[in-house]
Amino acid sequence: MIKTIIAGPCSVESREQLRSVTEALATMPRVGLVRAGVWKPRTRPGGFEGLGEPALQWMQAFSKEYGVRYCCEVATPDHVALCQRYGIDTVWIGARTTGNPFMVGELCEALRGSAMQVMVKNPTSPDVRLWLGAIERLRQCGIADISAVHRGFDMYHNLGYRNAPLWEVPMTLRREMPEVPLLCDPSHIGGNRELVAPLVQTAAQFDFDGLMVEVHPDPDAALTDGPQQLTVDAFAELLDHLVPLSSHLSPLNAQQLVPLRRQIDDIDHEMLSLLARRMEMSRQIAYIKRDLNLSVYQSDRWADVLADRLSMASGLGLDADFTRALLEKIHAESMRVQLDDQA
Ligand code: PEP
Ligand code: MN
Repeated sequence: MIKTIIAGPCSVESREQLRSVTEALATMPRVGLVRAGVWKPRTRPGGFEGLGEPALQWMQAFSKEYGVRYCCEVATPDHVALCQRYGIDTVWIGARTTGNPFMVGELCEALRGSAMQVMVKNPTSPDVRLWLGAIERLRQCGIADISAVHRGFDMYHNLGYRNAPLWEVPMTLRREMPEVPLLCDPSHIGGNRELVAPLVQTAAQFDFDGLMVEVHPDPDAALTDGPQQLTVDAFAELLDHLVPLSSHLSPLNAQQLVPLRRQIDDIDHEMLSLLARRMEMSRQIAYIKRDLNLSVYQSDRWADVLADRLSMASGLGLDADFTRALLEKIHAESMRVQLDDQA
């Protein structure tokens, strides 16, 4: 269930901008932390790279004035030291840093022995091991309060998002580390403010523990990530519409689901038996191909299979991308089985 809510501008841009957004967020009791970028990683040089130390001075002052806690990204040991100097006790490791174990190692050394809370964004590539590895390194340096932030993945095709969500990746992280709170950053996934609310709903359905949302007093004038930042009003409305969903089944609810789940179980068992039979057929075909000196991969046959199954799937109302991905997996396994038998 979504409990932790972090909101604030992509970057601190001026004292007045920080004051304005802080004043607004301080009146929202569900907002536990205000995010505010101080050093900005930019994909290409020449853009606004953050204000550095002056921003931290304002954050320290407003923290007292408005009773809020701030968090920001750290990318170097110097950043960690400056946060500590200005009383910032919560930081996050950005996507570009998580993907680099050398840099994560340096940050861990800088954080060693401190009581800082650390959030780890996923790396830009969908490699869950790098994400898990960064968390493990922090643990080895004695950091106790660690959470993970899902901010999407940079793929060649981003499926209409700035960073493709690939929800299965954070779900894998959760399966490996169920004790680590998992937050969603819909702003960097969407890259567009229209996508933020629907992504928040999806994150709630995936039972995320919290959100980190970019909120700016005047997003159209923002120096970084303007298109994806929400106005304070839009963010307040988003919070109003956040329906709490429970991941725990009451015995009564469970009763309603049990008969349908039994059917799902039976269907899965049947599917696996059919797949095993299919692989057995593949194996027999492999022997014949070997005797006939035929190559394992037969492109015409594969094209026919794909076209036939996609047409059938369309008649059955199955999604074409899903069907294609499933068939590609099955075909790849079939190739593997046949190659094994050729060896
Ligand atoms: C950010 O949160 O502003 C940011 C740069 O994030 P990420 O590391 O996810 O790109
Ligand atoms: Mn940003």
